[in-house]
Amino acid sequence: MSDKDDDPPNLPDPQEITRKLSDFLKSNFGDQVSFSTVTEGMNPFATMDEETGGEDHDLRDPVGDVLEFDLIPRQIKEHLDRYVIRQDEAKKALSIAVCDHYNHVKHQHRLHEENPSGDNDLEYAKQNVIVVGPTGVGKTYLVKHIAELIGVPFVKADATKFSETGYVGADVDDLVRELVRKADGDVELAEYGIVYIDEIDKIATASNIGGRDVSGRGVQTTLLKLMEDTEVAVRNPQDIQSQMQAMFEMSKGGGPTRDTINTRHILFIVSGAFSGLEKIVEKRIRQGAIGFGADQTIAENETALGELVTTQDFIDFGFEAEFIGRLPVRVVCDHLEAKDLFDIMKHSEGSLIRQYEREFSAYGIRAEFQDEALQRIAEEAEKEKTGARGLMTVCERLLRNFKFELPGTTLAELDISGELVENPDETLAAILEKAGPVGDSRVLGEVAAFRRKFEQEHSVRLTFENDAVVKLGEMADERGQSVLRLCEDLFHDYQFGLKLIQRNTGRDTFAVPAEALSEPDKYLSGLVVASYRTEGEDSEGPEDSSKPENTDFELES
Ligand code: ADP
Repeated sequence: MSDKDDDPPNLPDPQEITRKLSDFLKSNFGDQVSFSTVTEGMNPFATMDEETGGEDHDLRDPVGDVLEFDLIPRQIKEHLDRYVIRQDEAKKALSIAVCDHYNHVKHQHRLHEENPSGDNDLEYAKQNVIVVGPTGVGKTYLVKHIAELIGVPFVKADATKFSETGYVGADVDDLVRELVRKADGDVELAEYGIVYIDEIDKIATASNIGGRDVSGRGVQTTLLKLMEDTEVAVRNPQDIQSQMQAMFEMSKGGGPTRDTINTRHILFIVSGAFSGLEKIVEKRIRQGAIGFGADQTIAENETALGELVTTQDFIDFGFEAEFIGRLPVRVVCDHLEAKDLFDIMKHSEGSLIRQYEREFSAYGIRAEFQDEALQRIAEEAEKEKTGARGLMTVCERLLRNFKFELPGTTLAELDISGELVENPDETLAAILEKAGPVGDSRVLGEVAAFRRKFEQEHSVRLTFENDAVVKLGEMADERGQSVLRLCEDLFHDYQFGLKLIQRNTGRDTFAVPAEALSEPDKYLSGLVVASYRTEGEDSEGPEDSSKPENTDFELES
């Protein structure tokens, strides 16, 4: 009664609507339903295509690409070799399994096209894979790169998250629905995706392996169904939001959408550390075989484990025979030693060293890791016993203070040496003393931006000494110019002279001192002349007093 007719309607904001709806759903249905946040400007019921833009969907035909699959195992392995160090057996086994799988998919599709109404199902055992290996040795990384290469969606989950019914833990069917989400709503593409489940050993139930979850057996049964040929609802029946989205799409007249996803062609890869498996294998061999002495052990010898492990060993470990039977390809990943960790940093295309270089370069600092430093980082990382993950831990610990202290200083080059790894605090203190802070971060940021641009365009590096940076700030203020603009004016055409010097001396880094700024062109000509002298007869020193005396213009680091 208080509202007047001409008052605007008092609408709650989207967050308020979400809260009210959630309260309503909770009070009526309890915790079994979910409703996610409505964010401003976003239609909660928008189809995936609307949300992701979906512009280039029409141009690409990912399903067509999968059905044209024409890779051979060697090509897949070669691709993996670019990113993953070691794990040769795993790479081979996975490459073969993936080729067999997608060739079968292609063949099956052709048969169906030729005879749509006939029964074209061929006798085929899906090449699902079980990967045994410790944490951080590249299991996920392998699968991710395979999925990327083939162009299929890939979903990873931990087996420990699932419960038999889905009421307590996550629902295994969600894995398949997640594939649809990863495929931007393309159900057909999701049907060719890869599901990767880690920590599968945690759902083993054997009495001889202590502490297993009794519900593991139930989870095995539900996973088994997925690995076979089953239909999964595209929308979680307990997720009110996705049900409402379906209604919304129907009311928009969006045509019939697929209700279910078939799992027949989804490739399953499961993995785990399986600690204790080697004992089971050893015990079996000792009991049965002659020639396997009491002093021999499989532990720490992954090749032996890979060759010797049988289905029965997995059953003894605690898996149902039907479950393990659906995972015919078995491979063992090697644990990584310090030299492998070194190779990962040095040679893998996805090396985290590249990441650190990029991160420092965003602050205008060129970080360079020396081999000796990589060696020491690798040795430290090995002690972490978390495979390649240890590298991240060690680098983070080592470089955190450098990442905090160095941006905002005039440092242009960071030499990550063995000494720096050995004595990080002392090295940082020495660097800071030399580089000195630059008060005005705006000036520094613009100088860094100019340097990056200059290097990108001309492949020669300019650095600026402390006092030069300070002077640039002052000059820019006097002229009412931005520092970036000032640098562009002062060092316009500098690349020509620098390239000459580079040719004469091999230098590719040039540090600019403050005195160069008053007459930068004159300063540069002095350097060019001097570079001819040092190249030709021994230099007698610059004749002209206006020329710089010091031609060693590389900033010391
Ligand atoms: P997990 O074996 O536990 O699945 P991941 O594959 O997730 O381990 O490895 C974690 C990260 O470590 C990867 O993202 C990758 O950067 C790096 N990594 C692990 N193993 C290797 C390897 N063999 N070669 C190159 N990088 C690796």
